[in-house]
Amino acid sequence: MEKQIVLLPGDGIGQEVIESAKQVLEAVTERFHHTFTYHTHDIGGVAIDKHGTPLPEDTIRACQQSDAVLLGAVGGPKWDQNPSHLRPEKGLLGIRKQLGLFANLRPIKGFDQLLHASPLKHDVVAGSDLLIVRELTGGLYFGTPSERRNNGKEVVDTLSYQRDEIERIVDNAFQSARLRRKHLTSVDKANVLESSKVWREVVEEKKVDYPDVEVEHLLVDAAAMKLITNPKQFDVIVTENMFGDILSDEASVLTGSLGMLPSASLREDGMGLYEPVHGSAPDIAGQGVANPLATILSTALMLRHSFGLEKEAAVIEEAVQQVLEDGYCTGDLDVKGGKQVGTKEMTRLVLERV
Ligand code: ATP
Ligand code: MG
Repeated sequence: MEKQIVLLPGDGIGQEVIESAKQVLEAVTERFHHTFTYHTHDIGGVAIDKHGTPLPEDTIRACQQSDAVLLGAVGGPKWDQNPSHLRPEKGLLGIRKQLGLFANLRPIKGFDQLLHASPLKHDVVAGSDLLIVRELTGGLYFGTPSERRNNGKEVVDTLSYQRDEIERIVDNAFQSARLRRKHLTSVDKANVLESSKVWREVVEEKKVDYPDVEVEHLLVDAAAMKLITNPKQFDVIVTENMFGDILSDEASVLTGSLGMLPSASLREDGMGLYEPVHGSAPDIAGQGVANPLATILSTALMLRHSFGLEKEAAVIEEAVQQVLEDGYCTGDLDVKGGKQVGTKEMTRLVLERV
């Protein structure tokens, strides 16, 4: 298989973790005889410094012509005082919009060696393995504050969905469920929200096309509770934009290690942007101690969701699992009795197992 990959290292530890992830992708593609070509471009603070904008035209064009994008992180104290159009985050929001990414996927899987750092009881979180599929384009519409503050006495936010926006995210979630344990939980607030009633209708209509997937509906308040009392009941969760924003942060706490979480944002044709959930970690940037595993795991999502390369994705995930089982960790991970290594050594350990 031949693919064009754009790398956007961005700021802080982004540079270091992207280099690691690229090496892992290269090793996997070599093993399975695929040809991936890499193109590196600027985004965020580094792009502001070099080109005067967080999202240069050249970066947008390269991403649009690629099969997938791998992003490190953007932002840092250097640009904190910049005016709003010169904030590094504008680059990330901009590229998501330019690419028309509509589905955000966050797999939440605890690693046994790290679960003791979870605030929840071990027997509650051990074995939990779920995927949150969050709708990214509709939902609460953030217009300008002046439009929403009517005469200073009333304030209005609008939650709106096009039916086809719901249909495509629900289809996407059913397809992800098919790759996993074939259970889908649709989360809404259908007892009060009209948009949620339609959401539920769409799920009911769509499930006819996926008879092999078991479907359950849950109100968002109940879902928030069940996520921490019984996370093992979930396989794939699909939900609207803001519910997904809140639930995915809540769920990330289950694992006890934010530094291990990958994410994917997909376009309708399967093209996607992949990135670690963590930020640019300016406090440790350039020291060679950043944990590259979340970014390495993001490349596994790329192989699975953009290219349909399930076997290759599993090789990467198993290599990461194996490194932890063998007792290695980076400074941010709390592995009991673990041997602490830096970014390069951690990368080498993963490569060895790939
Ligand atoms: P952002 O606004 O970009 O999301 P943030 O302030 O939420 O940034 P991070 O940049 O993710 O947070 O960093 C939070 C803390 O976690 C920092 O102390 C950072 O050093 C640490 N951290 C984050 N990612 C990693 C990583 N990959 N390896 C090691 N430590 C990390
Ligand atoms: Mg953050």
